[in-house]
Amino acid sequence: MSNSTKYIFVTGGVTSSLGKGIISASLAKLLQSRGYTTTIQKLDPYINIDPGTLNPYEHGECFVTDDGAETDLDLGHYERFLNVPTSIANNVTTGRIYQAVIEKERRGEFLGKTVQVIPHITDEIKDRIQILGKKGDFDIVITEIGGTVGDIESLPYVEAVRQMLWEFESDCLVIHLTLIPYLAAAGELKTKPTQHSVKQLLELGVQPDILCCRTEHALDLTLRKKIAKFCNVSINAVIESRDAETIYDVPILMQDEELDKVVLEKLNLPSKTIPNLDNWKSFLYKLKNPTKEITVGLVGKYVELKDSYKSIAESFIHAGVANQCRVNVKWIHSEKLTKSNIKAELSDLDGILVAPGFGSRGISGKIDAVKFARENNIPFLGICLGMQCAVIEFARNVLNMTDANTTEIDSDCKFPVISMMEEQKNIANLGGTMRLGAYKCKLKPNSNSAIAYNSELISERHRHRYEFNNEYLAQFEEKGMLATGSNPDTGLVEVVEIKNHPWFVGVQFHPEYKSTVENPHPLFVGFVGAAIEFTKSNASAEAIVDSVN
Ligand code: GLN
Repeated sequence: MSNSTKYIFVTGGVTSSLGKGIISASLAKLLQSRGYTTTIQKLDPYINIDPGTLNPYEHGECFVTDDGAETDLDLGHYERFLNVPTSIANNVTTGRIYQAVIEKERRGEFLGKTVQVIPHITDEIKDRIQILGKKGDFDIVITEIGGTVGDIESLPYVEAVRQMLWEFESDCLVIHLTLIPYLAAAGELKTKPTQHSVKQLLELGVQPDILCCRTEHALDLTLRKKIAKFCNVSINAVIESRDAETIYDVPILMQDEELDKVVLEKLNLPSKTIPNLDNWKSFLYKLKNPTKEITVGLVGKYVELKDSYKSIAESFIHAGVANQCRVNVKWIHSEKLTKSNIKAELSDLDGILVAPGFGSRGISGKIDAVKFARENNIPFLGICLGMQCAVIEFARNVLNMTDANTTEIDSDCKFPVISMMEEQKNIANLGGTMRLGAYKCKLKPNSNSAIAYNSELISERHRHRYEFNNEYLAQFEEKGMLATGSNPDTGLVEVVEIKNHPWFVGVQFHPEYKSTVENPHPLFVGFVGAAIEFTKSNASAEAIVDSVN
């Protein structure tokens, strides 16, 4: 059977956290830079329908696509590397697969047959893999299989891969990402775990074509030959994947190992052009050679697990490069911020970002951090709950509405400055009340946000239930907190700014989901730029004080 789209499967062995997402994104980048349209899909073997209801401590950040899917954070890497949006089809979980099959069964679509893992679940998996290919938009679809080969829950996925390899033959290939551990006591790299992992795949009927070997030390030729011989792959298909200084090095490292070349040969695809990675390399050069340095505070309640704010951290890297500046992020636990330590914690910062979130834990620390930024003219970016905290803080401390709150936390508060819209209130299912995905926003000319975007009509992604309560808008504007961005169709406030502050922007949407290497997000670029200015003016103020003394 021939198929115009090529499918690459990426599996993982030996241990989790080997970085399948980054290897997949790096390979996709190399193929894209050779002129192949490429997309990446993640199959997650857990039973949740999507990661939307998962605690970030369990699963890191929930990434949101334009079409409103709540997805795995690896999709963020795919977008940041490829600069191409993903969609709901790019992330599928076991829960969703079973849900679809069970719904079909209820509709009687299986005509009385016994519904089983094989063939019904595996057929559904194969359909989901091919949805992206059948759209006709992509030459190559890379499908990353979550989890580790050998896990019980991964079995139907590996079986689906085996069937696709059989059906599509040379239009498919398998890359197995594995670990070559270094045993310090023996002073040696060890290949046995990799051999076992490949055997496990073979038991399931899948022979990997390429092995990507994560290692802390270089793989010499003897070792490569050994891996090739015992794992049944060609020697040029043993790819060394060394620990990198930054994830953005990985495409270059993979190019040095000729991963893309081997892939194209095995798929019988012409090399087309030599990959042009000039822009990527110039990004890397600037990343490694900053001309200045700032420190911004990220105030959130999940800071122990940095993956919870993955896209924000990456957006700072992109915006730093755009400003030729190293952006150090100080992770500040909002629950630990108190009135007595706030000055010590925040006064060394050049900018303060208050992070998104749900629920009441840590919110008072966030509100205090906003107050500190507002009163000390420190550049401020509030995202989603961070923006809502900015609104609450302004209401309480400037508009003297001491009991102002969001109805998420206090449904009976006297001044519900953040609340739920009427039409949302009757939806019982928690997943159903969210405003998710891309919405348009119109910005006020000459506002800090319009200047940052250099545009007045933007589109950004949302993930929240509560909104700015327009009943209070006039009071806010009168005292200097302006709604500088709003939804042109509904009038919902999407951006607030403070008039007499150098750079204070709160956004109801999530700009971090759209920042990529190629397109650093304008708001982050603007925020970092403002932080640099703030540092400069502080330094010159100190110099004046010094000279006076
Ligand atoms: N909890 C808030 C809401 O639902 C903000 C959500 C967020 O920060 N993503 O509106």
